[in-house]
Amino acid sequence: MSTSNLKVCKSCLMLSTRPRITFDSKGYCNACQWMLKKKKINWKKRENEWNKIANDIRSKKNNFDIIVPVSGGKDSCYVAYNLKHKYKLNPLCVTVNPPLQTSIGVKNLENFIKKGFNLVSLDPDPVLMQKINKKGLTTHGQPYYGWLTAVLAAIFNFANKLGIDLIMYGEDGEVEYGGEISTQNKFLFDNKYVERIYLSNQYKSIFNKFNLKSEKFFYELNLSKKLYYSHYSYFDNWDPYKNYLFAKDKFDLKENKKSNPATFTNFAQNDQKLYCLHTYLMFLKFGFGRATQDACIEVRRGAMSRDQAISLVNLYDHEVPKIFLKDYLSYYNLDLKNLRKIFDKFANKKILQKKNNYWNKKFKLV
Ligand SMILES: [Zn+2]
Repeated sequence: MSTSNLKVCKSCLMLSTRPRITFDSKGYCNACQWMLKKKKINWKKRENEWNKIANDIRSKKNNFDIIVPVSGGKDSCYVAYNLKHKYKLNPLCVTVNPPLQTSIGVKNLENFIKKGFNLVSLDPDPVLMQKINKKGLTTHGQPYYGWLTAVLAAIFNFANKLGIDLIMYGEDGEVEYGGEISTQNKFLFDNKYVERIYLSNQYKSIFNKFNLKSEKFFYELNLSKKLYYSHYSYFDNWDPYKNYLFAKDKFDLKENKKSNPATFTNFAQNDQKLYCLHTYLMFLKFGFGRATQDACIEVRRGAMSRDQAISLVNLYDHEVPKIFLKDYLSYYNLDLKNLRKIFDKFANKKILQKKNNYWNKKFKLV
């Protein structure tokens, strides 16, 4: 793909470089098409669908009814609260603490459990995780692949040990933000989907060098067990900003004082420093960064015009997360020259150009 065949959604600003994204004849991306469909969906019907499943789960009388992966952020607060209070389930919340966790992340998780939730923290050996993360970064431009795998695999394997059959995540990113639409009308997904979508089909190539033994519990993708994941956004008219207000009100969620690096928002994905590196690499590989990601959400929910979104994206999208660079260098045991080499390796030269050490877009959003 070069700048000449790069497509920009006519409704939001998402680019055709986003993996698995599709566009309709009007030039709307699948997330924007979904935004229109969402207005017509009978949400009461989907809620009833969940009510039936919740009744069924409750009747099994397990110690815990369902697993909810949590970070203490706005979305996991919203999901866990609703499962407990609206649907009267007894959720077991599970977290995998990320490397380079921020103090806000720690505080928000604390504030969350204080409101009456049971939490289990699964923390794999940080030395091995650092090695997997570093391999992910250097070979695939994936800065926290070990952690991401654990958030899925360790929680799945833990649920399996407890005999709990369902794990409830927040939103379906493919459907909500652009990507594959196979789960638009289907609420369950399995480890095959996880491997292909969430782990970008890179699981085998990243893990093949690691001779996992007991650590399989944290990282092995079990493809044969009949246990499922679901997205709460299938049953609920998902709105991340609404979740933020909800979490602030019910859980005293804290946001950053200033906006996060490379964007104009301060209330999402604040719990770990590596997220900013993840979105910077996304910018390098695909030409859209964290500001685009955030602005597209605002445009779709009708809170921002497309022109306003373009101004914000032009201002922030390409920003290197300078405030965390020292942490990154020390975590990966790299020097700045080598980190820059990694950036250069993954930068998409067809749509980006380098000026004075920094990568910028070759194309103009209109
Ligand atoms: Zn769009």
